[in-house]
Amino acid sequence: MEYCKKCVMPNTRPGLKFENGICTACINYEKQKTTNWEKRFEELKSLCEKYRGTNGNGYDCAIAISGGKDSHFQVYYVKEVLKMNPLLLSVSNIDWTETGRKNFENISENFGCDVISFNPNRKVAKILFRKAFEKIGSPTWYVDALIYAFPIKMAIQLGIKLLFYGEDVNYVYGGKYDSEKASAKEIMLNDVVKPVWKEWFEDNQLTEKDLESVRMPTKEDIEKSELEPVYLSYFVPWDSHHNFEVAKRWGFKQLLHEYQREGTIEEYNQIDSIGYLLNQFMKYPKYAHSSATEIGSRWIRAGTKTREEVVKLVEEYDKNLDQGIIEKFCLFTGMTIPEFWKILDKWYNPEFFEQDKDGVWHEKFRVGKGIE
Ligand SMILES: [Zn+2]
Repeated sequence: MEYCKKCVMPNTRPGLKFENGICTACINYEKQKTTNWEKRFEELKSLCEKYRGTNGNGYDCAIAISGGKDSHFQVYYVKEVLKMNPLLLSVSNIDWTETGRKNFENISENFGCDVISFNPNRKVAKILFRKAFEKIGSPTWYVDALIYAFPIKMAIQLGIKLLFYGEDVNYVYGGKYDSEKASAKEIMLNDVVKPVWKEWFEDNQLTEKDLESVRMPTKEDIEKSELEPVYLSYFVPWDSHHNFEVAKRWGFKQLLHEYQREGTIEEYNQIDSIGYLLNQFMKYPKYAHSSATEIGSRWIRAGTKTREEVVKLVEEYDKNLDQGIIEKFCLFTGMTIPEFWKILDKWYNPEFFEQDKDGVWHEKFRVGKGIE
């Protein structure tokens, strides 16, 4: 186990590479400083000109949104800065925080946009949340897969040619790709959604028909449709805290007025559902880092906190599994709390953790240092 010398990301994060002790997320962040943003803005403007009005009086483009701070920033940029007329495409949450629901409504209200929301099949979700927690340790696989598939399919159906996504997760936070590109055509190939399929049908609780909505169109289908999916993060510098500040100016609210989460160091990321946060926490037993590591690392890169300050925060927060997460997850899937822990125990990696005789897990590593 090795930590980046600059931020606090460990090399246990799947796909994260290191060069001379520095992780690719830090290296790619530094590249932003020498990127010719004027040139990229011009590229973005000509892309918009290419598609503006091609749909008659219809939409110039679509934006895949969740309703969070980054969605506010995207809609602000496309509608207010680029003066496009976007259609917003979104997948509804199974369980919402009040703040998340209001933020979602706020986008349409303050920017004046039409929204098409897909409401997931709750019966399928109930079965699949549990199954995905047990089998792959990614409880929200179903909604994650929908979030990727739905906007692409819908844009194709409506004949919209330009589709905006926020950031290229694999590039901005370090992953599979070393070079940055505007095109999001390979979005279906990245690791955000694990490529599992047959496993879901083994016990005959679900059929392939139940999951038709998450089936990705093939690359050939996308080519044929002439849909151009792009990442906004290629064209404008991407900084989650900056996006938060912009979003606030357009009515976005953070979660702390409603709920205090136990395992996070901010209240503006992924705040629209509490139950879904189990997915984010699962990185902790599997890879020995979670939300505080990721957000704290972004703060170090942006220069707002030192590595020492962030190490302290990570030590305090990453290990905390919010009790509200367990409650919401168990309520929805019909699982008991002891059943929940029995499954969760399976995901603790013995390389990084040891369990005491009463079942409590203890870290074998030191944050920022590794296993000594
Ligand atoms: Zn780093």
